[in-house]
Amino acid sequence: MIEIKDKKNCSACTACVSICPQKCITMKEDEEGFLYPETHREKCVNCGLCQSVCQHIHFPEKKDIPMAYAGYNKNEDLREKSSSGGVFTLLAESILNEGGAVYGAGFDKDFILHHMCIENINDLEKLRGSKYMQSIMGDTFPKIKKQLETGKKVLFTGTPCQCEGLLRYLKKKYENLYIQDIICHGVPSGKLWNKYLEDKKINKYDLEKISFRDKKTGWKDYSLLFKYRSGENVREKAKETSYMRAFIKNASLRYSCYNCKVKSLGRHSDITLGDFWGVEYVLPEMEKNMGVSLILVHSDKGENLLSKVKENMVITPVNPLDGIKYNKSAVNVPDIPKMRASFYQNAENKGIEKAVKKAVKPKISVTVKNILKKVIGKQKKY
Ligand SMILES: Cc1cc2nc3c(=O)[nH]c(=O)nc-3n(C[C@H](O)[C@H](O)[C@H](O)COP(=O)(O)OP(=O)(O)OC[C@H]3O[C@@H](n4cnc5c(N)ncnc54)[C@H](O)[C@@H]3O)c2cc1C
Repeated sequence: MIEIKDKKNCSACTACVSICPQKCITMKEDEEGFLYPETHREKCVNCGLCQSVCQHIHFPEKKDIPMAYAGYNKNEDLREKSSSGGVFTLLAESILNEGGAVYGAGFDKDFILHHMCIENINDLEKLRGSKYMQSIMGDTFPKIKKQLETGKKVLFTGTPCQCEGLLRYLKKKYENLYIQDIICHGVPSGKLWNKYLEDKKINKYDLEKISFRDKKTGWKDYSLLFKYRSGENVREKAKETSYMRAFIKNASLRYSCYNCKVKSLGRHSDITLGDFWGVEYVLPEMEKNMGVSLILVHSDKGENLLSKVKENMVITPVNPLDGIKYNKSAVNVPDIPKMRASFYQNAENKGIEKAVKKAVKPKISVTVKNILKKVIGKQKKY
């Protein structure tokens, strides 16, 4: 039986729901909009399968050091439309060209983020680009298992905890399964994103597309882009929006993100993709304006998949430690701010803008610090 006593111990990967032979576990939304499993006790036969697949109950670390690369997609259009260097698109195209299926996070018609299956290259744009919220897994895992059993190639992509959940649920290795996770800062809830749109008085049905990483203002200094059906495009610098400030400053993350088991250089996935922050110090000659991916390869299968797409990339091997030097999200869990407990409640009652101001204390500038030192220093003399 699965019983979540501490929210830090469930990442909503859905391995427990998917493996339950009695179908007696369902995911239920909490007040913040995050999903948690709930066991219907009358149907539970205490077989223990749910606990056996839970990454928060037992997590065998993988200590191997991966191969690391800096690289990007030679197709400048696809690179610009992607969050980092557009490597996900290349890996996905390779699987689709061989008749396989690709799973990743995409918005449905109501702008709710789900994991979905793509079998046609024209649909890949649904998965392309980072969406900074937790995607709903639904019955993704059993669907993948069925496809794998028929011999179909499957590329599953997602957050590290989602990838780990799939591996746990499957319980055995499939040669036709490729797993690509991301370097993940953490995830806010989809409910918070809807609240943000509500605060901004944006009707989501007026929108054609949302991009969380529009690079017109740069890869590092990216914007949120709201593409309206009317043809209007509205950009806001990400760092200046309350939603992204709450995300970047860790105020809105799921509780399990502060207790992530999977963040590490060694992983059970085949490939990890992230941003190569700091590439200018490691490879000053590499062109970086439209984004460079950090690619960590954990298995021979991952290396084979990457080698199939290398001709369409600019790619250079790097020392993995150089790769993560400026990207601590790869290995470090975020600190939990004191105000995390009341953040969602404040956002609901007073709006996200006010909730962020309360949660994230502005850094004291050097000038203010010096003035304070003088004042405090003077006071000490008396
Ligand atoms: C919530 C979140 C936090 C991230 N934090 C960091 C970070 O701290 N440091 C860093 O270097 N990189 C981070 N990334 C990853 C990075 O921004 C890129 O998405 C990744 O490097 C792949 O880039 P790409 O250009 O190859 O492909 P893209 O086309 O940009 O990425 C598409 C891929 O991202 C997946 N994806 C998009 N949104 C989600 C989601 N909500 N949940 C699960 N999978 C999703 C898709 O399934 C697909 O596999 C984060 C991504 C997300 C979604």
